[in-house]
Amino acid sequence: MGLPLRRIALVVSLSLSVSPAQHMTEDANRVQASVLGVDSHNDTVQHIMYDNADIGHRLSDGTIDIPRLREGGIHVPFFALLVPTYYKGSETVRRTLDFRDVIQTVLDKYPDQIELATSAQDIERIVRQKKVAAVLTVEGGHQIDNDLAVLRMYRRMGILSMTLTHFRSNDWADSSTGKAEHNGLTEFGKEVVREMNRIGMIVDISHVSDKTFYDVLRVTTKPVIASHSSCRSLSDIPRNMSDEMLRALAQNGGVVGMNFGAPFLNQKDAEELKQEIARRNALEPNLTGAELDEFAAKQYARQGESHPRVGNATVEDAAACIDHIVRVAGIEHVGIGSDFDGVQMVPRGLEDVSKMPNLTALLLKRGYSEEDIKKIMGGNFLRVVREVVGK
Ligand SMILES: [Zn+2]
Repeated sequence: MGLPLRRIALVVSLSLSVSPAQHMTEDANRVQASVLGVDSHNDTVQHIMYDNADIGHRLSDGTIDIPRLREGGIHVPFFALLVPTYYKGSETVRRTLDFRDVIQTVLDKYPDQIELATSAQDIERIVRQKKVAAVLTVEGGHQIDNDLAVLRMYRRMGILSMTLTHFRSNDWADSSTGKAEHNGLTEFGKEVVREMNRIGMIVDISHVSDKTFYDVLRVTTKPVIASHSSCRSLSDIPRNMSDEMLRALAQNGGVVGMNFGAPFLNQKDAEELKQEIARRNALEPNLTGAELDEFAAKQYARQGESHPRVGNATVEDAAACIDHIVRVAGIEHVGIGSDFDGVQMVPRGLEDVSKMPNLTALLLKRGYSEEDIKKIMGGNFLRVVREVVGK
C-alpha cells in the first residue's frame, strides 16, 4: 500500500526543509543570546520573602528564577523592594530592611551565579562573567518615611532607583491610583527628586499621577525611568502612559520599561486590575511589627502573583506596545519592565521570563534590526544607569 501522492509530497517537503517558524525561533534565540537583557522591574523579592522561594533553582511556581532568567536572556533584573502602602511611618523603613536582607541571602548563597550591581561598569562586568547582575530598587517613596537621610542610606545599601509612589499617594507625591492630595509633587517631593539626582539614584515615575510626572520633569536634571508602565493607547488605565507623556519622557532622555501584566497590554483585562487596586487601597490593618508582616503575607498569598493566570493579552500585544512607544517616543526610549511576580495575569506567549525569545521573534518579524533589539533589551537602560548612577 503506497501513500497517496499529496501525502508523499508533504512528507518530502517537511523532511527536506526547515520550516519558516523554526527559522524564526532560531533567529530569535540567537539575537536574544546577544542582548544585555535588562528588565527594569520584577517583584521576585516578595516571592522569596513570603514563599521562601529558592531562585537558584528552577521553580514550579512564580515567573522568575535564575535558570529561567538565563533561558530568557535577562541578565540584569531590577529587583524591587516593595513595602505595601498600608505600612506607616518607621514600619516602612524596617520592612524595607527586611526585604534588603532577603535578597542579600540570595546574593550570599549563589555568589557564582548572581552579584549585586551598583554601577554601569558593574553591570557590564558581571554579565561578562556570565552571572546575573542584580539591580535593587525601592518601590514607593513612602518607604523613606519623609527622611532624606533614609533615602541616602538606601543608596549606600546599593539601591539604585526609587519609584516615587506606589498605589496610594504619600505625604509628598500623588499616585495615579490614589487620591489627588497635593496637585502633584509637594516642595519636599521636589527636594526628594533633587537629592536623588545628586546622589545618583534613578527617579522612577511608574505609579505616579500625570501631574506628579510633569512636576518631576520640571525639577529633574537627569533622565528618569518608568520602570513598569505600558501604553494608554492600548489599555487606558492610569498606570499606563499617554502619548504626550511618552513624548515628554523622550525629551527628558528617559526610558519606559514596558509592563507585561495582561491588563497593561489589553483593555479586555483592565477591569480586574482596577478592582484589585481599589481593594488593596482600602486595606487599613491596625497592626505593627510581626502581626503586620503576617497580614502582608496573607495578602500576598491571596493576590496569587506566584501563580498568575493567562489573560486575553498575548505576546503580540506586547510587540504592538513596543512598536507604539517606538513610533511616539523613539527607539532610544523603550525597554522591558516585566513586573513578573507582581502581576496576577500574564499574556499568552509571555507566561514567564524564559519566554522572552517569543517577543524577540515578533520584533524581528516586524522588521526590527538586531541593533534595535539590543537597545530595547538593555542598551537604553544601561545608558540611563551610566548617566544617573555613574560609571
Ligand atoms: Zn508596581
